[in-house]
Amino acid sequence: MSTVRAIKNVWNRYIDKNKDYKNVSKVHIDLVERLEKIEPLVARLELSKEEIASKLQQGIPYLEGEEDKVELQFAIMHFRELSNWTGLGDSRSIFKKMGKKATDAEIQQLQRAWLLGDSTVIDQFAGQYNLPLDVLFVVIRYSLLPTLNQYTKEFEETKVFNEEEWMKDYCPVCGDQHGLAEYRGSERLRHFRCLSCAGDWTYWRIACPHCENKDHNQLSTLLIQEEKGSFQIDACDACHGYVKGINKLDPSSPMFLLLDDFATFHLDLLAKEKGYHRQGSQTTLQ
Ligand SMILES: [Zn+2]
Ligand SMILES: [Zn+2]
Repeated sequence: MSTVRAIKNVWNRYIDKNKDYKNVSKVHIDLVERLEKIEPLVARLELSKEEIASKLQQGIPYLEGEEDKVELQFAIMHFRELSNWTGLGDSRSIFKKMGKKATDAEIQQLQRAWLLGDSTVIDQFAGQYNLPLDVLFVVIRYSLLPTLNQYTKEFEETKVFNEEEWMKDYCPVCGDQHGLAEYRGSERLRHFRCLSCAGDWTYWRIACPHCENKDHNQLSTLLIQEEKGSFQIDACDACHGYVKGINKLDPSSPMFLLLDDFATFHLDLLAKEKGYHRQGSQTTLQ
């Protein structure tokens, strides 16, 4: 079964139980259709096992310092495809206009700047085409996901990564912050998943990744049981950060990872209502 078909089946089951999912499902399905439309590429860094091990030992993500080597040919096509995505809402027409005007070289420069964390180029691009920055961030991130995931696969194939030696709040592949947690059986550990590259690593269950607080009196878990699955919000009262989590048997593939994120937006709202933030105050201050 194609990924798009499988995704549609899951949403249909959710919508049968709760009609509120209809709108968010349309936006997500359109996103997956656009990302799946372009043939998967094969991209590799081909670093030696020793090089990878040495980076990880220093806490340096796999792709850091290799940004110029990332193959962006397909990410540019994904970016163009997403410039007409229904999820853009009110910004759709200006993104469409940008999609017609921007050259491949400009888009490549924008994506490269994102990988390098160079905000000047991104601000300039947004200004030039009149695009809201927050929406542009989302589009850049999604446009890069299928490409970065190719590197994640290569990273995992090398089998150099040792989960228990990493245990950080950022992704060992691309360095982004965890997007959500998957509870996959371990009593001691949860799996963090990266929404930029679908990276997968572990972190303690009883500890806050934002401020490393391990005092269980300042950590709380809100369990949410729904027909479609069981979820939780792990919150920290030391820094007011939270992580949303989902019980899973197996790791989700990239498009299902996005589905998990889309289908749990209500958990983010709930956490915010309770005064918690995705970043935690400590991280925001840095
Ligand atoms: Zn990542
Ligand atoms: Zn904390």
